[in-house]
Amino acid sequence: MKNGALLYRGKAKSVYLTDNPDEVSVEFRDDITAFDGEKSGVLEDKGVYNAAVTTFFFEYLEIHGVKTHYIHMLDRRTMLVRRLQMIPLEVIVRNVAAGSIVKRYPFTEGQVLKTPVMVIDYKDDSRHDPMINDDIIFALGIVTREELLTVRKTALKVNDLLRTYLAGLNITLVDFKMEFGRYRGEILVGDELSMDSMRLWDAKTKDSLDKDVYRFDKGDVRATYAAVAERITPGALHRFEAEQAVFPGKGSQ
Ligand code: 5GP
Repeated sequence: MKNGALLYRGKAKSVYLTDNPDEVSVEFRDDITAFDGEKSGVLEDKGVYNAAVTTFFFEYLEIHGVKTHYIHMLDRRTMLVRRLQMIPLEVIVRNVAAGSIVKRYPFTEGQVLKTPVMVIDYKDDSRHDPMINDDIIFALGIVTREELLTVRKTALKVNDLLRTYLAGLNITLVDFKMEFGRYRGEILVGDELSMDSMRLWDAKTKDSLDKDVYRFDKGDVRATYAAVAERITPGALHRFEAEQAVFPGKGSQ
C-alpha cells in the first residue's frame, strides 16, 4: 500500500492517509532532534532502527494482551496503524532516576526507584510539555477519570513487560514515554516505543543506548542505534528484507 496524502509531519515521523479511513501509515524518518528541536540532524537508517524496535515492542505488547495501534509493517521504516484520536498526554514511567526528574527533584542520577514513578506531561511543544496533574487534566477535559485509570494501568503493565524483557538482554529500562489514543471507544497505545522515547542503559557498563547519546554527545549515535536495535530484535532487521525477497509484497497487503 502506498503512502497517501501527508496528514501530519512531526520531528522524526510522518503520518500519511491510506485508502482506509480507519488506518494511517507512519514513516520513521532519519531526522533526529533534541531539546525541543534546538539540536537537529539526520542519521542514516535511524528511522529503520526505530521502526524495528517499535514494531517489535508493539507485537510483544499485543501478544501479552496490551492493545496498540499497530497493524503491520509496510516497509522497513513504515508501519500501518489504526488511526487514533490522539490524547495530548505524554505518560512517562521511570524505574531509575535520570533526566528531568534529577534536575527538578533531589534524586541522584542512577538512583533505583523503589517503585515505578509515573509522571504525565501535557503534550505541547510551544509550552515545553509541562507536567500536568489530574485536576488540570479533568479541568481541560482531556480524558475522563475512567480513561485516565486505563492509561495509568496500561502504562504500568507496559513498563513491567518491557522492563522484564530488556532485563533479559542486560538492558536497564531507565524510563520511557508513551502516548495513547482513542479508537472505537477504546484506549490504545499509540505513537512509538523506540530509542527516541526511552532511556536504556547497558546493565553492566551503564552506557546509554538511546537518544541521550545524541543529546549529550556521548558517542557514535548511529552505531548505538544499530547495535541496540539488533540486540532488542535479534535478526529482525535482516528478516524483513529476506521475506521481501522470498515473498514480495508480504506485509503490504
Ligand atoms: P525526561 O523527562 O527525563 O526528559 O524524559 C523522560 C523519558 O521520556 C525519556 O526516556 C525521554 O526520552 C522521554 N520523553 C520525554 N519527553 C519526550 C518527548 O517529547 N518526545 C520523546 N520522543 N520522548 C520524550
